[in-house]
Amino acid sequence: MIGVFGGTFDPPHVGHLVLADEAAWALSLSKVLWVVTGEPPHKPEQPITSVEHRIQMVALSIRGDSRFELSRTEVDRPGPHFAAETLELLTATLPDVAWAYVMGEDSLIDLPNWHRPARLVDLCHSIAVLRRPMVESNLTQLERQVPGLAAKLRLLDVPLVDVSARDIRRRVQEGLPFRYLVPGGVAEYIREHQLYL
Ligand code: ATP
Repeated sequence: MIGVFGGTFDPPHVGHLVLADEAAWALSLSKVLWVVTGEPPHKPEQPITSVEHRIQMVALSIRGDSRFELSRTEVDRPGPHFAAETLELLTATLPDVAWAYVMGEDSLIDLPNWHRPARLVDLCHSIAVLRRPMVESNLTQLERQVPGLAAKLRLLDVPLVDVSARDIRRRVQEGLPFRYLVPGGVAEYIREHQLYL
């Protein structure tokens, strides 16, 4: 089974690594594809860093872990990008593979608002979810909104990681330390390219 981990990754941080690592372990994934989003349809209000910077930062984050692979499947096609369509494309390319979508609990709560959530759930063998501080999903309600979801959920059992890209961007802007909140090489990249200032 291959994991699909979609995100803006603006910037990637240690929460993303913990999530991908735990999902890979818990679901015995042979690979986790880090799908960098071009134009996130559900974050229209927020200006995001250019896709090539985000791609470079993800590449730095996952180097050295052979289970992790960068995927350009969204950035190389015109947006807006929907996870269900990405899964359809991946399934068409590799029809014999079982897929697991990997996400944080805030994304799970938002899933009913995504484009064709039922199709996404249908195409996934499993949906691996890491809990996130300050959010609490209601599985009964989610199942009512997207029937079939509950049976595919795999809640990951690791300590909460209270790190978000938004907070890192704020810390960079305010001159606060952030070096160990991001994977090796990413802090240097942010400084070198003067991102988030
Ligand atoms: P932002 O703060 O800009 O909203 P983010 O930190 O949530 O960004 P994304 O790139 O949007 O980062 O996240 C990609 C996926 O990783 C989402 O499914 C999100 O829920 C999950 N995720 C990110 N950070 C964490 C975390 N600390 N714990 C659990 N899941 C996380």
